This record gives sequence, structure tokens and C-alpha cells, in this order.
Amino acid sequence: PQSERRDFIREMIANDLASGNCKTPVTRFPPEPNGYLHIGHAKAICLNFGLALEYASVGARCHLRFDDTNPSKEDQEYVDSIQSDIKWLGFDWGNNLYFASNIFDFFYDCAVHLINNGLAYVDEQDVETIRAQRGNLVTPGTHSPYRDRSIEENIARFTAMKNGEIPEGKAVLRAKIDMASSNMNMRDPILYRIVFAEHHNTGDKWCIYPMYDFAHPLEDAYEHITHSLCTLEFENHRPLYDWVIDNCPVPSRPRQTEFSRLNITYTVMSKRKLLQLVQEKRVSGWDDPRMPTISGMRRRGYPAAAIRNFCETVGITKFNGITDVALLEHSVRGELNATAPRRMAVLRPLKLVLTNLPANHSETVTVVNNPEKPEEGTRELTLTREVWIEQDDFMIDPPKKYFRLGVGRTVRLRGGYCVTCTGYCTDEAGNVTEVQAEIIPGTIGNNPPEGIKCKTAIHWVAVPHAVDAEVRLYDRLFSCENPDAHEEGFLAALNPDSLDIIAHAKIEPALAAAEPEFVCQFERLGYFVADRRDHAPEHPVYNRAVALKDSWAK
Ligand code: ATP
Ligand code: MG
Ligand code: MG
Repeated sequence: PQSERRDFIREMIANDLASGNCKTPVTRFPPEPNGYLHIGHAKAICLNFGLALEYASVGARCHLRFDDTNPSKEDQEYVDSIQSDIKWLGFDWGNNLYFASNIFDFFYDCAVHLINNGLAYVDEQDVETIRAQRGNLVTPGTHSPYRDRSIEENIARFTAMKNGEIPEGKAVLRAKIDMASSNMNMRDPILYRIVFAEHHNTGDKWCIYPMYDFAHPLEDAYEHITHSLCTLEFENHRPLYDWVIDNCPVPSRPRQTEFSRLNITYTVMSKRKLLQLVQEKRVSGWDDPRMPTISGMRRRGYPAAAIRNFCETVGITKFNGITDVALLEHSVRGELNATAPRRMAVLRPLKLVLTNLPANHSETVTVVNNPEKPEEGTRELTLTREVWIEQDDFMIDPPKKYFRLGVGRTVRLRGGYCVTCTGYCTDEAGNVTEVQAEIIPGTIGNNPPEGIKCKTAIHWVAVPHAVDAEVRLYDRLFSCENPDAHEEGFLAALNPDSLDIIAHAKIEPALAAAEPEFVCQFERLGYFVADRRDHAPEHPVYNRAVALKDSWAK
């Protein structure tokens, strides 16, 4: 699908194709498998995989590359979840699956090449000393005493690093660039460090691991990536990216271009913080429906199309901003309004007795599945003498503008009769325990007689057919707009009311029988999804994806 929007990256690629600079755009999405993907990653996925689709006619492709060069934080669970989330979002890498850890030999050879050309050296000072020697923006750095070692000595010490003969922290390989550079990243950056840790792919084969700034350009070049798109914080790493490409024996010359990160209000987006929420059990897991992860949003009932539309609307720019979470919710609501069938469920049940129907009354009524999609037809429900209605839909002493039930007032039972309230019962505490009403015969599909006002159709579920369900009402996980900026830390910004569990809602039988991940509108209440993990016909569980209207803004 051709993107409607022309952003600076699409402009650049169009120019590269027009000038013959590039014949086939090749992009990549390069997650580190150290956590689950979040909505920020979705932006990068939509951009990179989206470009490959837009330029499919010239053979464009997008690689999925696991940037797995840091053994201590990575895990197979993350590798698997990342693949399944990308597929669910609607994208496909085909055969183009890469692991940076499969080319550790290539990185190593490039490092040796740099040493042989006098462009890298083994520094045996500790990392704190190296950091202290870097200087700052006004003061140039100081040369390491190891900077002018001979090539032979560097090769011998680098080999010793590789062979596990030097303890962790006792040596690093550094690029020999310019300790007075105005770009701090160019002051002899570290290229390799020693880590004695089991790697999820290569086990204990390696005990030296390349740094991001060295590995990333080499991965791009190795895979013949033409356009390496990353977020703005890497802008001042680009000179180093180019230095690595210029000085290593690479098979192609990729170019890095930066775009703005996605930030969203009421949300944290760093994997470190999301991991902390999971580890401290502030949420039920990475796919807790309140998490900004792709799997969390999926479990919450957000459609993949809504996430893609949201990313498209946010667009690609050079300026970091913060996007209102209401825009994401708007996108979800828009998509679900068009696609989700309507069903009836009563969250806080109150019994309504239709006193002028016989005790065993049972009548089939027809209701529309989706007013936005007439082709989805209708379904049949059974109307009985006793039905569950929402506690909210009755008031003992209703104000004038209340168009629901109160003694003497008339509403329609959706798809059924207009009914006029005649009385109610209360318990000792004064709580309403039952409401009585009389149906007005002949009003199914017809207006009530002249003089009877009936402005609202309320939802209902027949008492004998209703199934008990657990309904989880989710709200935003954080109660302040920018949790990262909270003075007591982001955990202090957690919303204590982000989950409200209703243990005994009443749902129509079809909702109990639905498959996990079935999404629908509970009429008048919001959009709900059958929980992907916990829903079963004998124990239905529904999650609220989003309310019909944004209650938060009130
Ligand atoms: P985090 O900061 O959450 O740990 P990361 O950038 O370290 O994220 P990676 O796994 O390295 O996580 O990210 C893979 C790709 O996704 C990178 O190319 C990165 O630029 C992109 N990406 C990550 N977060 C965002 C974001 N908020 N907006 C846009 N792109 C993002
Ligand atoms: Mg990263
Ligand atoms: Mg990170």
C-alpha cells in the first residue's frame, strides 16, 4: 500500500531511486532481544517494513535482524515474542531473518583489519580511567598510554582477549580516531569488551563482544542494507558509523538516517522500565493489557490495523515530540466502530421483571449485528419474563433529563418491546433489588402509542440464558501525563485504579461460546475482547479495550 504521506525519508528514497544512487531499497528492523516490543517499536516496524511494501515493484525488502551482541540481557523468549508480534502487526520478513551473533567472525576480522591498519589498539586501563581521559566538550581528551602500541603487540593482546586469557574489565579494544574531536563519540571509542556470559545463540564460544557503534554499521553493510533508519539519539553517532564503514573491509556502503522517536503521554516506553514493571509484578506480565507492548495491546483488544493507522497518523519527522495517548485510543475506537459486531452484556446486573408476561414466556427477537455493516446481518435472542439490566439504567427518583427507567417511564429493550416501569423492591439498606415493568404489546419494531415517550433503548440479557463472566475494566497504567518526569520516579506515577475486575457480569450465551480474541462492542459500554489467555466457555473472561467515549478527558 502506497503511503499517503510524503515524509523526508520517503523523499530521500525517491530521490535515490531517481538518481540511480540506489536500485533496490533494503531496510531492516534491528531489535535487541532483551524485552518485548512496544508501540515505539511499532513505529519503526511500520516505517521499515512499510517502505519494503511500497517499493516491492523494484524488489525492496526489509530484514528482521536480531541485534544480539550483548549476551547478558538477551533471551530466546524475546526472540520468539518479537517474531510473533511483528507477524501479528501484519508484516513479514520472508527469508530475510538475520542474527548479528551469526557474524561474530566478521566483526572480529574487521577488528583485526583495523589493528593491522594502525586504527585500533588494546587499552588495558580500567573503564573508569578511560572515561576520565575522554575530557568534555571544552577540554580535549588525553591519550591512553596504550595508544601507540605496535601492531604486533595489539594483535597479541586482542588474541589473548579473544582466548579468554584476560579477565573481564581488564582490557578493551578501542578505535584510534581523535581524542580532541568535538564529537565525543569519536574520541577513541570502545569497539570490543570482554564479557564472560553465556550467549543465547553462540553459547560460550565468545568472551569478547562488539559494541553497538562498531557492530551496527557492519551488520548493515554485511546485509547490503541501503537505508539504515534509526532514532534521533543516534544522530551524533553517525560520524562513527561512517568511520567504521570507511575503514573496514565491507561488502556494501549503507547510509544512516535518523527520525524522531515515538513518545506517548501516560506511558513509559523504555524496555528497562517495562522490564521493571514485570519483574516487580506491578503488572501481570509483558502482555498485561495495560502495558504499551504490542502483545499487551493485542491482549487488550487493540486491532493491528489501529496500531498501523496510529503510526501512519503520527508520521515520520526530525523533531521529538510527545503524542497524546488519546490519539491511539481514537484510532482503536475508529477501527473497532467500523469492524466490531455488537453484543449485549450487563456489567452491574439488576433484575427487571416484565409482570405482564407469563412466567414461562420465551420469545425470539432479532437484533442487528453491526449497524455499520448491514452485510453482517442479524442474530436471534430469547426474551423472557425476567431480564438483567444495568443498575445504572434505573433510578428511584430520576431527574427530568434521565431517559432511562424510573417509575412511570418507558424505555425500549434493544430489539424487543417498549416497557413501562411500574415499581421496584429494595432491601433493608435501601438498595434496589428488583424493578418491575409492563411491556407495551405490539412495540417490537414499532413506535409506542401516541403520548408515550420512549427515547432510549437499553441493553439486557435474559435471566435464564445469561452466562456469568469475569470482565476486566482497564484504565491507563499511569495517572500522570509524563511518568518519566515524576520527581519520585515513574513507579510513583502508577494509577492505582488501572484495573477494576467485575466478577459476575451477565453476558449473552454467544459471548461465552466465542473464541479467545473475539472482539465486539458491548452495546452502550465499550469495546471488549475475549481474553487471549484466560477466556473459556466455562469461564468467560472479557477485557475492555476502550470505552465508547473518552471518560478520562472529563
Ligand atoms: P528501548 O529504549 O525501549 O530499550 P531500544 O531502541 O534500545 O528501545 P531496540 O531493540 O534496539 O530497542 O530497538 C529496535 C529498533 O526500534 C531501533 O531501530 C530503534 O530505533 C527502534 N525504536 C525503539 N524505540 C522506539 C521509539 N520509541 N520510537 C521509534 N522507534 C523506536
Ligand atoms: Mg537498542
Ligand atoms: Mg535500549
